[in-house]
Parts: sequence; structure tokens; C-alpha cells
Amino acid sequence: MNKSVYEVIKEDEEYLMQSFKRWYPFVISHGKGAIVYDIEGKEYIDFNAGIGVLALGHGNEKIISAVNEQMRKFFHYSLTDFYYELAVEVAKRLTSFMPYSAKVFYTNSGTESVEAAIKIARGHTGRQWIIGFINSFHGRTLGSLSFTSSKAIQRKSFSPLLPSTYLIPYPDKRNPLCSNNCTETLISFIEDWIFKKIVDPSEVAAFIAEPIQGEGGVIVPPSDFFYKLNNLLKKYGILLIMDEVQTGIGRTGKMFAFEHFNVTPDIVCLAKAIGGGIPLGAVVGRKEVMDLPPGSHANTFGGNPLALAASKVVLEEVPKLLDHVSSIGKKIIEELKDTKSPYLYDVRGMGLLIGAELRKDNKPFYEGLEKVLYNSFKRGVLAIGAGESTIRIEPPLIINEDLALKGTKIIKEEIEKL
Ligand code: PLP
Repeated sequence: MNKSVYEVIKEDEEYLMQSFKRWYPFVISHGKGAIVYDIEGKEYIDFNAGIGVLALGHGNEKIISAVNEQMRKFFHYSLTDFYYELAVEVAKRLTSFMPYSAKVFYTNSGTESVEAAIKIARGHTGRQWIIGFINSFHGRTLGSLSFTSSKAIQRKSFSPLLPSTYLIPYPDKRNPLCSNNCTETLISFIEDWIFKKIVDPSEVAAFIAEPIQGEGGVIVPPSDFFYKLNNLLKKYGILLIMDEVQTGIGRTGKMFAFEHFNVTPDIVCLAKAIGGGIPLGAVVGRKEVMDLPPGSHANTFGGNPLALAASKVVLEEVPKLLDHVSSIGKKIIEELKDTKSPYLYDVRGMGLLIGAELRKDNKPFYEGLEKVLYNSFKRGVLAIGAGESTIRIEPPLIINEDLALKGTKIIKEEIEKL
């Protein structure tokens, strides 16, 4: 017999460590496309996509057949000890989207991609320092956590983290540093303060950044920032690592978000959408940078064949969706901008990674965020928060316009009711 929502949640609280935050009591039963159902049969519009994972939505038939077919051949065979063709096929396809000759290292999650990128950058340059940005999210393991800083609770009681790291402000227009020419101010801050007072640039292996801060509140940097940052880094032989775990694989209307910013990172971290819902991550980087020697880095599950079978479908289908993603994203943003509420401070984003920030008395309006998310859930729309008080909208890339606007209107009405 099926359990009730209440029963599942009660047992969840009893048997699972509660180190994460749930926004509302949604217990999934199944999904199709951009619609999900709870175990009591209620239907919802999915504006989460399993947090940026299900680019092709729920129950994609091509993924189901590809995974089924692969399942009949073999489930697993440790790619870092043996060989299989599928791993090469997917790597060929993935590297074809990069602006230079690239190589791939497969992982199982976003945080593992970031860990690998840190090692690759240190191993390749022989340098130790890595610089990240405040308000970023790069994962929860101790290496990636050294650069994660979107909420203090993520780090609280886990120090010491990696030494030889430093966090600098992100080019966020809400930051007073950015009130006047954000890009120039931050670039000179790096050159005149960080490189002259904290660490000599000859000791810096890499900078790591999200091209758009996702978990930090969907923060879109000025269009020239990464281009100019990279020019500075190149002067000193410092690598640029872009964490595209959330923004990559079509989420922003391009295969990679860095394409919006006229920049070519040396290393790109991927996960979430690349496996179509089956755990898979990847680090893709310049051939000459991806040069860790045999024995120095590997894993048991990276490049799992079931995940790669799904990924092959994702990498075939997502490029066909890019224009759709940009167009639906613009319509959602337009609709949200029309909200009549004194609490809607900003609507921003690219493609289908969209944030609507709520503020009250010039401060983040967290209670407002919780209320909008909960009431939207009650009315059949699932979205979660980002940053301190931003509604995060990231539906499957295949969502159609009707459904996207229907869900957006419900969220808009809930903001208006605050
Ligand atoms: N990097 C970014 C930009 C992310 O958004 C996330 C997860 O939200 C991660 C890394 C960590 O990924 P995972 O949760 O798969 O470890």
C-alpha cells in the first residue's frame, strides 16, 4: 500500500540525516516531461528539474531506451582501469562543443568535478594557490567547500579548509564595490591588492568561478568581466576554471554559459544535466592542461556506462533546444518583470536559469520567499530559493510555453499577494 506524504516525511526524518533544507513537503511519485506527480496523485509544474538536472525532462523515451540497451550489455566496468568505446564516443561529442582541442575526465557529481579541477590546475602548473569568489557554490566536499561561500552555514564547523586559497568579491551589481565600473574596480583590486599584498601571481594556479552564480541567487556578472579577468590571468600563466555544473549543457541558451561572455576557460566543470538524471560529471579542459600523470587521479564510478548512454542522448538533443531555451526564458522574465509588488527587487537570468529577488525595507525578504514558494507549491508549481531571498526558476529545457507561463503567472500572483 502507498504511504501518505505525512508518513514518508516522518520516516525520512527518522532515518535520514537532516543536514539539508526542504522547502515544502513534496514527495515525488513520478514525472513526465515538465510535470511531476506526488504520491497522493497531485500534479505539479516542475520549475526545479531536480535542481538543474533534468534538461530533457522526466521520462524521456530516448534516454529510457538508451539506458535499457546499455543495461543489457554491462552496468559498470571501472573506466579508469579498463576501456570502453562509449566513454570515448561521449568525450568526442562533449569536446566538439569546446572552442579548442580538449580532453575529458569523468566524475560522478559536481563537487567531484571541482575537486578534480583543483588537482588538475595544481598538477599542471606546479603552483598551489587558487582564488575563488564570495557567494559562490562549488560543492560540499572539503576542497570544493573551500570556495563555496553562498551561506556561512555551508562552512560552519568544517574548518580548516584548503590552505592557499582566497575569496574575492564577485562582480555583483548589488555590491557597493560595483557601484561604479564593476569590472575595472575588481580587476584593479586583483592586480593592485591581491597580487601585490597577498600572493605573488607566480604562485597562483587558477581562479575558479561560476559564469553566473546559481545557488548564490542567480547573479549575472557584467558582460566584459570574465574576458578582462582572463586577459589578466593569461599575463601571469594562471588558469581559469569555470564551474558550469549548473549553467552548462544548454541551461542558459548556449551549451556553456561562458559563451555569453566571450571567454575561453582552460578547465570547465560539469555535472547535473550532463547525465540526463543519472549521476555523471565531467571535467573538460585544454588538451595540454589535462595532463595529470597515470596513477595520480582516478575513480571507480566515473563515466558509468548507464550514465554515459543517457549523456549521449542529452548531448544529441540539447543543442536542438538552445533557441527554445532562450525564447522561453525571455518570456518568463518579461512576465515576472510585470509583477506589481513593492517587494520584487529584481528579475534576472539567462535562458532557463532565472531569479526573482524579493526585498523588504532594503533587506532580503526571506519570509516573503518562503511564503511565495510554499503557496506556489500549494497551487501546483514547484520552485526553490537561491541566495538569501531569490526565487529560482529552472524548469526542464523542454518545457513548452503554455506550461512555463502558467507556472510563472502563479508565482507572480503569489508575489503580488505578499
Ligand atoms: N557547482 C555548482 C555551480 C553547483 O550549482 C553545484 C550544485 O548545486 C555544485 C557545484 C555541486 O554539485 P553536486 O551537488 O553534484 O556535488
